[in-house]
This record gives sequence, structure tokens and C-alpha cells, in this order.
Amino acid sequence: MSSVTSLNPLLQDWTGPYGLPPFAEITAAHFLPAFEQAIAQHRAELDAIAAQTDAPSFANTLASFDRSGRLLTRLESLFYSLAASATSPELQATQRALAGPLAAHNSWTYMHEGLFKRVDALFQQRQALGLDSQALRLLERVHLDFVRAGAKLAAAEQKRYAQVMERLAELNTQFAQNVLADETGYQLLLQGEADIAGLPDFLLAAAAQAASDRGLPAGSRVITLSRSLIVPFLTFSERRDLREQAWRAWVGRGENAGATDNRAVAQEILTLRNEQARLHGHACYADYALADTMAGSRAAVAGLLSQVWEPAKTAAAAEQAALEAMMQSLGHALPLQAWDWRFYAEKVRKAQYDLDEAEVKPYFPLDAMVQALFDCAGRLFGLRFEARPEVAAYHPDVLVYEVQDADGRLRGIFLHDNFARSIKRSGAWMNALRLQARNGLDCLPIILNNNNFAKGAAGQPTLLSFDDTRTLFHEFGHGLHGLLSDVEFERLSGTQVLRDFVELPSQLFEHWMADPAVLKKHARHYQTGEAIPDALLAKLKAAALFNQGYETVRYTASALVDLAAHSLTEAEGPAVVDFEAKTMAAYGLPAAVGMNHRMTHFQHLFSGSSYAAGYYVYLWAEVLEADGFEAFVEAGDIFDAGVAKRLRDCIYSTGNSREPGEAFRAFRGRDAVVGPMLKSRGLLPA
Ligand SMILES: [Zn+2]
Repeated sequence: MSSVTSLNPLLQDWTGPYGLPPFAEITAAHFLPAFEQAIAQHRAELDAIAAQTDAPSFANTLASFDRSGRLLTRLESLFYSLAASATSPELQATQRALAGPLAAHNSWTYMHEGLFKRVDALFQQRQALGLDSQALRLLERVHLDFVRAGAKLAAAEQKRYAQVMERLAELNTQFAQNVLADETGYQLLLQGEADIAGLPDFLLAAAAQAASDRGLPAGSRVITLSRSLIVPFLTFSERRDLREQAWRAWVGRGENAGATDNRAVAQEILTLRNEQARLHGHACYADYALADTMAGSRAAVAGLLSQVWEPAKTAAAAEQAALEAMMQSLGHALPLQAWDWRFYAEKVRKAQYDLDEAEVKPYFPLDAMVQALFDCAGRLFGLRFEARPEVAAYHPDVLVYEVQDADGRLRGIFLHDNFARSIKRSGAWMNALRLQARNGLDCLPIILNNNNFAKGAAGQPTLLSFDDTRTLFHEFGHGLHGLLSDVEFERLSGTQVLRDFVELPSQLFEHWMADPAVLKKHARHYQTGEAIPDALLAKLKAAALFNQGYETVRYTASALVDLAAHSLTEAEGPAVVDFEAKTMAAYGLPAAVGMNHRMTHFQHLFSGSSYAAGYYVYLWAEVLEADGFEAFVEAGDIFDAGVAKRLRDCIYSTGNSREPGEAFRAFRGRDAVVGPMLKSRGLLPA
């Protein structure tokens, strides 16, 4: 062992609790040398698989391939987790330095001639190998991974393909770092009584906490671009000028001239993706991306989006008329602008449904909602979550839980990182520090959920909005997909499914949070302990469809722009700001709704490739999920044991070990139908 190895905690066996990384000992400087070694080690493992003189067999090729590179996977999981949740200038520099070499290693792996020869030989005779269904699935999946990464390209094309992938990886990293820089760099300082007109107590407290997090003098209050500050600010602030200012900063991320400008970055990404697709023989990137999805084609995606776009615009127009009537009744000047929508929607919501967001939040303290998650997971799947406060993660706010199955056996580890920080990317996501797999290694999953809730002030609980609570449940649904995974091979584990299937377990889980009985049990006033009153529940239910036109237009507009941008066949990517404006004009996006995910900060599209030409997946999964939940409704009990067992066996535990359409049919007894999704969004014709 060299001295570098012996001193680098990343290269030691992680012998801490549950095999968690020794977070406290790790510094940014450890990563580059550790990655260097891990890549070299993985290359040696792959060369050894390829160099075997024995004829290729499933065991000596596929199973070995699936077991290889574990040190590298471990490092990547940890590194990207820290880079997202607790980054630093040093980690960011490392991330930029690593993007190219990691992409190059990926290309090297999947263009390894000797390795692909063995995989391909097995693939050609796959029906004669006597494999069980999971082994066959792994063989088909890995073969497709090779082909989609360029294994079949001619040598000169492979060289160019690898260059394209390397450059794309650098651009993706740059894009994400630019968005974070614009988010961190902005704050709206609220001064004096006039600036806080209309803001409820919870928002004032959160704004004070955000100011203190940023080291501002006591008594300061700031609105940052964190969703849990900016969205309530746009909802409540009576200062139209400040709403406009905050809105423009929010939708202007990545479009500020200078070092963080993402316009050229996004354009170059589109250009290179187009080249990537053409090397594979596809006319556009969307064709390449969609070939490996449930939807399968642009036509299928466009068909689904068109089923909601016009009805959603109609619903949004009716909502807009109600907001404009409200403006006029208050003597406020038309037109309704994009920074006004949430503000007047809240007023209409209050008037029509007597529902006040500020009245709702005291019943949704974070801690109680976390207990609601665990309770639902327990009643559905028999899981138990035990807090292990003595186990430290990478930040004091991250809570570590041991997850046990109904029989008491350790099922996995769950890390919950709920609060916004200036060194954390925006949004909410699930990731794994370790994936569940067997294949001779018996790995238990270590799963993270990240949210960006504004932390309650010192001594005060963190109060969630109904939307925040939905996000909490959504990410936990992904978390369960990782924790319940019960497959043989790492490549088929947990959330590594086709991406228009991956939002099924997460969106489905949101249904339990909206259930009245669950809410009566867990949604209790943080001061009095009183359960949420029936009257408030009734109001929440009545208001559930309110503003759905707006929400659906907002989402679908982003999905349409994504599909359009990745359907272009010209070699040169478009100037994205102009392209977005023209596309939305053609589709007739209402100006008062506005674009929320502008292309210059649309991380789903440009911080990586997994959602490129794939923003539609939420709607696709919603079809599956709305229809899937109907199975519980039909059974007359949302915790029905039989349906829950099928759900676990067919959906949450199978990962990618089954074809997703077949998995859904095994759960539901038939293919999904669109009706329940349209109904749940209030888009069925009356
Ligand atoms: Zn999700």
C-alpha cells in the first residue's frame, strides 16, 4: 500500500457504523488521488474480465462486470452527494476537474472491444443460456448500455463520441455550478415595515433565519431564491415592485451576463447532444433518448402532452379571469403579470375556499410529517425507522435512521437532509450512497433524501406548506424505491429503472399524505397539539383542484420546450432564450403564467442528461400512479394488505429486474389508463 493510499480515508475500508463514509476525516483534497486510484483499479478489473481465456459465461462476464468498479461507484456516490448537499469552492473545483476524466473512463469502459465482444457473444445466444429472468434482464440491459454508449461505432467515430461525452460532462457541471452561483449571489433585503407588507409570521421567521445563515446582522431579513422563501414571498408580498424584482431574479438565473451565464453553455450542450444522436444514426437527440423509455417515441410523448395542454390552458384561462376580477375588486391595475399570479391566486383561494396558507402551516411541523412518512411506510410495507442520533453524517442537520423490515432485520440506512443551505443545490432529490445488491457482495442500501425547507428560527419548529409536505412524501417515495430494492444485481437495483417509470413510486406515495385519516393522525397544531380541524380538512380538499390549470400549464410548457429543443435536427443548437420564447409563442403560453423553468437554469435538462428529452416523465408516471392508486381505492382501504404486498413485490422492490410495463401489469392486472390522471388534475371534460 502506497503512502497516499494509507493516508487517504477514501481508500480505506469504511468501518464506521453501517459502512458510512468517515465524513469528518474527508477533505476535498482526498478526492482526486482517490478517484485516480479507483479508475485504475476498475480498468484493471475490466481488463482482467476481457482477458480471460475461458469462453464467456454469464458468471465470468456479466456477474463479474456487475461486481466490478465498486470502489469507484462508492467514491462517485459520495462525491456527488457532497457536491450537491454540502459543496465548497474546493469541491466545485474538483468536480470541474473530474467531469472530463470520469466521462472518459465511462467511454473507455463501454467501448472496450474485448469486453464488448464477450457481452455481445452472450447476448447473441441469450435464449440458449438457460438464464433466469433476472440474469437475462441484466444481460439485455448491459448489452444495451454498451450499444447506447457507442460500443458498435467504428474506431474513428468512437474517438469523436468520447470527446463529445467528455465535453458534455464538463458543460453539465458548469451549468449546475452557474445556477448555484446565481442563487447564492442573490438576496432581496427586506428593510422596514413597508418591505414586509403582507408577509405572514412563518415567512418572516424563515427570512430572518436565512439572513442569519448568511451572516447578516441580527434583525435582518432576506428573501433568497430557495423555493421555500421565493414561492411564499410571491404568494404573500403586497409589494408588487418587490415581487417583480424577486421574480425577475428567480427566472433570470443563468441569464446574467458574466461568468455565470448559461446561454452559451446550454446552446453548446444542445449542439453536442445532436452530434451524439447523429453518431448513433438518429435524426435528433429526442429520438436517441426516447428509444430507451416506456414511451418509446416522440409521437407517444407529444400525444400525452397534447392531451393535457389545451384543457390545461382552458382551465388556466378561467383561473386567470377569476384573478383579474379579484384585482379589479381591489382596485389594482391590470394586466395580471407572472409575478402577480400566486399573489392573487392566494386571495381567490381565501375568498372562494376560505383557505389561508398561513392557517394551514401550523398543522404541518416537519417532525410530525416525518413521523407520518414512517407511519405510512410501516403500515404499507412493515418498515420501521429508528433514529440513530449518535451517528454523524456530513452536516449536523442530517439525521441518520436505521431501517428495519417487519421481521426486525436490517433493511438499509436512511439519511434525511431537509434544510436549505447556501452551499446546497436547490430543489429536492433522492440519491444513494450505496445501492442494494447481492451478487456475492450483499450490500444494504444507504439512501438519502434532500429537501430545501426554510429552517424554523432557533427554538421554533420548521413549518411546512401543503406543497412542501407533498415534496417530502415524493422524495420519500423515491427513498422507499431504493430501500425496498430486493434484486441480485447492482445495475438493476432500486431507482435505476427506465426514467419514465422512476417517478411512479415517488408520485404514488404522495397519495397517502393527502389522506384525511393520515392527516387527522399526524397533522397537529405545533403549539396546541390539536388535530387538524375537519373544517380545515374540508377546505383543503375543496381547494385541491384550485389553480391546477396554472400548475399544469407551467409544467407542460417546460415539457414541450424540452421536447422541442431536443427534436431539432440542425447541427447547431439554438440560441436558447430566443428559441424558448418562439416555441412558447407558438404554443400560446399565457403571459400571466410565464415560464418557471427557463432554459438557462433548467437543471433537469442541462445539469446532466438523464431528464433531457425527459421532462415529460412526471406526467407519464402520473398516468401509472393515478391508475395504480385506484387499486387501493377499489379495495376500499388505502392500506389494504393484499394490494400493498403486490405493490411492494411488483413495483417498489423489483428495480429494473423486470420490464416496467410487465411489472405494472403484474401489480394492476392490466395496462394503465389515462382517465384517473386527467380526473385528478380536473381536466376531464365536464
Ligand atoms: Zn421525483
